[in-house]
Amino acid sequence: MATEQCLKCKMQLSDSDFVICDCCNELLHEKCSELSTTEMRSVLLKKRSLMFFCLTCKENFKQFPKLIKNFNELMERNKALEETNKELLQKLDNYKELESKITTPIANQCNMEDVISEIIDRQSRATNVIIFNVNESSNNTKVGRLQDDREAVINILEDYAVDKTDLKLFRLGKISPNKMRPIKLTLKSAEEAKYILRNKLVKNTWN
Ligand SMILES: [Zn+2]
Ligand SMILES: [Zn+2]
Repeated sequence: MATEQCLKCKMQLSDSDFVICDCCNELLHEKCSELSTTEMRSVLLKKRSLMFFCLTCKENFKQFPKLIKNFNELMERNKALEETNKELLQKLDNYKELESKITTPIANQCNMEDVISEIIDRQSRATNVIIFNVNESSNNTKVGRLQDDREAVINILEDYAVDKTDLKLFRLGKISPNKMRPIKLTLKSAEEAKYILRNKLVKNTWN
């Protein structure tokens, strides 16, 4: 106890002369406690109903009603915040659900762009042209008809500076009377195909 000092006067306390604050447990001289002799006797009883509080704690107690009011207000606000939080979480869930619905079409759109660029790319590399309005051969055999088609195409391409050897061509669709099926012609290069497509209007046998 010798190292303890009085909360009020900061002087050393003796083993017998002190009283303990029931709130902060700090020690004070009996005279510094400002208790009357009767009060002091009651406070020092082992079984007692009277409590002792130092001046600091007494001052603090005055703040109690205000603190309780503030605390209650905080609790109210906390409750309101919890409600808001719950609503926000619900909204977030809704947004997430919406987002998953939105991002799927966006992904498709991106794929669509890929597809379009792929088509453009393929077209630039395409070596095929379609020739219309070429009379169907009256030959009875497939080989004969192909031969006639080949000659017709070579004839059409007469004025075009393209490689006409071993032309790959075939009629699109099934034979039917009074119908001229288009011919798909595969050229040796994309340049030749482009050249033909650019100049095709000079011939009126195909469009
Ligand atoms: Zn003192
Ligand atoms: Zn105290």
